[in-house]
Amino acid sequence: MEKYNKMIWDRSETIALAKPFCTTCNGEGHKAIRRGIPTPCNCVLRAVFRACYARFVSCASKEKFMSQITLIPCKGKESQKTFARLNEEYIADFCLVSRRNLSDFDYSVFRNHFVLGADWRLCCEHMKLDRGTFFHTLYRIQQILGAPSASSNPTACFPSTSTSAAGSISHGW
Ligand SMILES: [Zn+2]
Repeated sequence: MEKYNKMIWDRSETIALAKPFCTTCNGEGHKAIRRGIPTPCNCVLRAVFRACYARFVSCASKEKFMSQITLIPCKGKESQKTFARLNEEYIADFCLVSRRNLSDFDYSVFRNHFVLGADWRLCCEHMKLDRGTFFHTLYRIQQILGAPSASSNPTACFPSTSTSAAGSISHGW
């Protein structure tokens, strides 16, 4: 899949993110090698999503008056720096990546559970789902969003040394 090619899945990164007792990758972090490029295991993609979601919750739970304008470097004709609201931009990027990559059904589960904070009982009751379907959907959402969160350009939601070196991250998170 082309979407995995944007981020160089470094072996040291995937091992660090992999679930130690994963039955698919045995803690290696890779499940297959396609065209010479390692493919991240689903446990790695879920770890990426959880890190991005933790950052999203942190940004979203800050008080309004705590919002700050930050001076960041940029490539401009007149100035080499610009102002940005990094917390708000991160929240917008996280939601935009989710909307673009999820189906309507998955996005409605994502919105109810991850954005609005409804627990599994409320989601199941509201969306007329059984518990198994709900948790399978959560796993699928985390796996789907793990890859684009790590590799979306120009701003990746997930910090990585390899994408940073390639110039994919401008936030510097
Ligand atoms: Zn794994």
